[in-house]
Amino acid sequence: MKAVKPDDFLTKLPKIELHCHLDGSLRPETVWELAQQYNVQLPAKTQTEVKKFFNATGRKSLSDYLTLFGYTVPLLQTRDALRRATAELIEDFARENGKYIEIRYAPFLHLQKGLTPEQVVEATIEGLHEGEQKSGIRARLILCAMRQASPELALEVAQLAAQYKNKGVAAFDIAGPENGFPPERHRQAFEYAKANRLFVTIHAGEENCPDYIRQAIELGADRLGHGLHLELAPEAIQKLVIDRKIALEMCPTSNLQTKGWKSYSEHPIERYRRAGVLVTVNTDNRLMSDTTFTNELRQTQQAFGLRDEIARELMMNAARAAFLPETEKDELLKLVSQNS
Ligand SMILES: [Zn+2]
Repeated sequence: MKAVKPDDFLTKLPKIELHCHLDGSLRPETVWELAQQYNVQLPAKTQTEVKKFFNATGRKSLSDYLTLFGYTVPLLQTRDALRRATAELIEDFARENGKYIEIRYAPFLHLQKGLTPEQVVEATIEGLHEGEQKSGIRARLILCAMRQASPELALEVAQLAAQYKNKGVAAFDIAGPENGFPPERHRQAFEYAKANRLFVTIHAGEENCPDYIRQAIELGADRLGHGLHLELAPEAIQKLVIDRKIALEMCPTSNLQTKGWKSYSEHPIERYRRAGVLVTVNTDNRLMSDTTFTNELRQTQQAFGLRDEIARELMMNAARAAFLPETEKDELLKLVSQNS
């Protein structure tokens, strides 16, 4: 890759990220320190090996990719670790001229050392405020249910999200291995979230399950996590996604890693953009993809030879799809349209 000048367009562009997992976006040095602090065994003997071990390049499937989280989740079992990880992620994004980020995680994965679900959420809200204060940027949380867990547990996550709505939590999502765990399974949780005026995003169409995209739309998803297989969904569904401006939260490097694609140019993002879909670029997991937001944007721009103004358009899409009140979205739109 060519050396990047600090005044380069993408470096200066104000950025908005909508799809980023807390347990996949730890700094390698924080992973190392938390492992020492909490006496967690890692398959790495040095900090440099940590970075290498978590790099998911060469993974064969989503399930294979997800095994790496088995090593980060045990590090995030205390209030302090959750607070720190959240604050650091916001600060990292601000350093890339990030202006707004939505961070997601599954609260029920963080109860191994006795925290209650409420304490988990409160620790991340504390980290959110710390990150916002230190960096001067804005952030929100999205609570995820694990799709392979029971519908009752998913409903509890939706209730937890409603409890902390307007206190830092903006939305409800389902995550985890997709195939075999349709969104429909968690209908009750989605209905609860919608009835309580939470925003809803659903990981759908990351694996080869186009019918799950249909289900997600019918369940009222405001956005889709990935939506890679949208073009395999019925035409009427594709049209709905375009007409209702349901944004796709796409994550190029992560998508390459879970699909086994060889190059960024195989990614459907540019086809979808040209078809009128509200596409956005995101990192998914900075640690597993050894990436930054700017890198995702740059890889996308280079793969399709996109003009700088298209990169700005992608940020405008993210501003429009942000889980924020209209007035705050307008502020983001203004920031993105004027700067750089
Ligand atoms: Zn994701």
